[in-house]
Amino acid sequence: MQYYNSDTMPAPLHIQNEGSNTHHHARRLSIADVTKEDLSHGPTVIVPGSPSVGSPTSTTIAETIALARDHLEHPAETQEPAVEFEEDSDDVSENSQLSNVVPDYVFGFDLDGVFLRGGNVIPEAKEALRILNGDNEEGVKVPYIFLTNGGGKTEAERCLDLSRQLDVAVSPEQFICGHTPMSEMAAQYHTVLVVGGEGEKCRHVAENYGFKDVVTPGDLVKWKPSVCPFRKLTDEEYANSKERDFTDVNIEAIFVFADSRDWASDAQIILELLMSKNGRMGTVSESHTEGPPIFFAHNDVVWSTSYDLTRYGMGALRIMIEALYKESTGKTIDVTTYGKPSKATFDYATRVLQQWRKDLFDDPAPPRTVYFVGDTPESDIRGSNEYDEHSESDWYSILVETGVYESGTEPRYKPRKTVRNVLEAVKFGMERERRRK
Ligand SMILES: [Mg+2]
Repeated sequence: MQYYNSDTMPAPLHIQNEGSNTHHHARRLSIADVTKEDLSHGPTVIVPGSPSVGSPTSTTIAETIALARDHLEHPAETQEPAVEFEEDSDDVSENSQLSNVVPDYVFGFDLDGVFLRGGNVIPEAKEALRILNGDNEEGVKVPYIFLTNGGGKTEAERCLDLSRQLDVAVSPEQFICGHTPMSEMAAQYHTVLVVGGEGEKCRHVAENYGFKDVVTPGDLVKWKPSVCPFRKLTDEEYANSKERDFTDVNIEAIFVFADSRDWASDAQIILELLMSKNGRMGTVSESHTEGPPIFFAHNDVVWSTSYDLTRYGMGALRIMIEALYKESTGKTIDVTTYGKPSKATFDYATRVLQQWRKDLFDDPAPPRTVYFVGDTPESDIRGSNEYDEHSESDWYSILVETGVYESGTEPRYKPRKTVRNVLEAVKFGMERERRRK
């Protein structure tokens, strides 16, 4: 059900196409009654259930970014957009001077280890977002996006979780996951193996991206349990896995979307396919070079949970696959990894932010400074620093101590600033901008 209450919510932002009467605006859906189906069509903003905490400002930022990304992905439908705020908005005087109050810098955030740890919200997280959303001396509203390597859910589901946990309006379009750029390969590969994540979630993510024929390890085990002798499908897994004869099926590519829940059987299947003839189960390529390509959503070797020490993640599975392939064939396998620190992820973020500025200010320039806040030197800091070398924007890396990085140790990739938590990171960036003026 759609939630809309003009008394309590800010006026809708209208994108008006020149020469047409079409108005586009992001749909606002309340956490209280939104369904997964609601989230699959067009730009959407999830607002907190209680209007008192649904700050108009955070909704505006979420909404404008939602529209920017929609324009990026569907340029033909929304050419030369101009943005208009409704006349009856309480914020009208402020909005008409939006370019004066919305700064030319933005924040980019990693999620796990910055806002969340082991699924729980870090204490300073809510205040950090409140400040960005305008609760500060100057009343400036600072836009932000999330670049997360964590995946295994659609961007929309992640957005729902976060909006609930942090009590702010968030749009799925503010999320760039490790697997987001994989959607561009849906046209290239027909039958694909998708690995990782809970239950059937990654099959749905892949289908949502447009992949036509998605196979999971569960489908292969259901077909022949002896493929993975120690793997027993639960009743639920058996019911969800597809009944299919894989004798004549060629798997054209392997995508690791999220962390494997069963490394042994997933590795067994991945390695068989990598060494197969054209991705057909039960075959062996003599040269070991006829298997399908493999793509990983990210390359983080460890990640932080509610446990005291870091845990192994997708990057560690990648190392294991490479080592076993080498052991079995004597050859090196080529793998492709997405997510931070890969350039593809930062490029995508830049395009979203640039489109956002173009929509709002008719300014095609990217933001002057992007403060990028993360907890993992090898992905967040490395990615931000390397991207900065070739970017028009100044990517300013900030390391926090609430996740993978341990205070007092020497990070392998040096941030431009180290602070204790995300709140300090936000205060530091905003204070630096104040001094610049
Ligand atoms: Mg992290």
